[in-house]
Amino acid sequence: MEPIQDINILDTELRRERAQENDDIDTDDLDRPKMAEHEVQGARQVYLETYGCQMNASDSEIVASVLKSNGYGLTHDVDEADVALVNTCAIRENAEQKVRRRLDMLRAKKRKRDTPMMIGVLGCMAERLREKLLEQEKRVDLVVGPDAYRDLPRLLAEADSTGQAAVNVQLSKEETYADLSPVRYDSNGISAFVSIMRGCDNMCAFCVVPFTRGRERSRPVSTILRECQELVDQGYKEVTVLGQNVNSYHYTDDDGTDVSFAELLDRVSQVSPELRVRYSTSHPKDCSDELLQVHARRHNVCNYIHLPVQHGNTEVLDRMRRTYSREQYLDLVERAKALCPGISLSTDIIAGFCGETEAQHQDTLSLMREVEYDHAYMFKYSERPDTYAARKLDDDVPEDVKQRRLEEIITLQRSISEVRNANEIGRKHTVLVEGPSKKSDAQLCGRTDTNKMVVFDCADYEKGDYVNVRIVDATSATLIGEALGRTTLQEEAERLVVG
Ligand code: SAM
Ligand code: SF4
Repeated sequence: MEPIQDINILDTELRRERAQENDDIDTDDLDRPKMAEHEVQGARQVYLETYGCQMNASDSEIVASVLKSNGYGLTHDVDEADVALVNTCAIRENAEQKVRRRLDMLRAKKRKRDTPMMIGVLGCMAERLREKLLEQEKRVDLVVGPDAYRDLPRLLAEADSTGQAAVNVQLSKEETYADLSPVRYDSNGISAFVSIMRGCDNMCAFCVVPFTRGRERSRPVSTILRECQELVDQGYKEVTVLGQNVNSYHYTDDDGTDVSFAELLDRVSQVSPELRVRYSTSHPKDCSDELLQVHARRHNVCNYIHLPVQHGNTEVLDRMRRTYSREQYLDLVERAKALCPGISLSTDIIAGFCGETEAQHQDTLSLMREVEYDHAYMFKYSERPDTYAARKLDDDVPEDVKQRRLEEIITLQRSISEVRNANEIGRKHTVLVEGPSKKSDAQLCGRTDTNKMVVFDCADYEKGDYVNVRIVDATSATLIGEALGRTTLQEEAERLVVG
């Protein structure tokens, strides 16, 4: 999933600090536009903070929707809040530690206040650490798992009336929140997430997601298309359809037809020719030729795939239970490049998995050179309780070796990104303007179809415009452009066909 960055969708400063202190996340997120901050008034105010992947950010919009329709308001100021909720991530140990530190800070605030404040933990850590959070550590008043957000109002009322902690961490085989309209309270008004499936059945050896988010289930097609249409009607220009393993989406429609992810994406792309469509996160085993053909056929399905490889050595991939070999992955990359010329690829890589030898680590580096990713999210292996790796394999790569291998991976990716971005100089791209650049109000920023961030002088363009931009300079993280004029996606598609 646009992987694993700690997103605090309510507090931009905290978000920046967090990204800078983190050793294994990518920080190009800092070039994103400042978010519009919409508050919602209500009888009791809720402060909501989000950690982890895009799926968590999307879940927070569901939480906001449930709370708003039950009379709660949303505030960006924790000091004004009656309830502080932290939507958590359990993917790696350092993600959990950060949430614990944040809970300690919230508890310190609570102690100093004259008025009461309830503290709640939502999401993946809630599921994993329910007993610890409630009983041993007495850190929180509310623990709510990712499939129990509809129950939040009842749980809040229960905790309020009894003075006891309220808990629901029941995982569901059906819940997709299909009928809820997410409250996009921290959106830039241009790009939105649309959650299309939940959970994961893959059981990769290192991953806690199947334990914290439960079984895979897909949302009905009609509700997804309706949500995308509503977003277009509200002026949104880009949707990212989300799932933990998004391209294993499958749904049997009312008329009995099976809808695959490729078919769904095709239908979403027809909601509007001016709506850019992205998705995250795909598993290589579910990246079919049919899906690649949708990228090639539909001008508004972006020419970009996040395709997590995790490792470059077949034996390690086998131990990771990824179900593909190095060769199969490289074949897939070759097919993607052949069917979708100019496609941009990004990935996730884990350094120092159980039993990884120096030669196997070198295979990861050589795979990176071969694929030439535009971008990568790179992590040190972190053992997670209950996973296959924790139960059956030895976490035997010493910490300093893991760190050194991670640094080698990061350094290599930086140099690949630098070269790939330098190759963009002189090319033209259609950029969807997201807002002012983080570094200067005199400049705008937005992304190319291939998901590269471009910064350029404002002129008279606005958020939501498609602008033709010529690239004049580049760093490993950002392209610097010169605006050539407004355009539309359809105009650009026709120009390509004629050209
Ligand atoms: N579903 C996606 C896939 O199959 O590739 C990945 C989603 S996972 C939530 C995001 C990323 O976190 C993974 O791709 C992996 O690189 C990283 N990750 C997951 N568990 C990890 C662990 N135990 N240690 C280090 N990184 C981990
Ligand atoms: Fe985790 Fe594997 Fe599922 Fe991705 S596909 S969420 S890495 S178990």
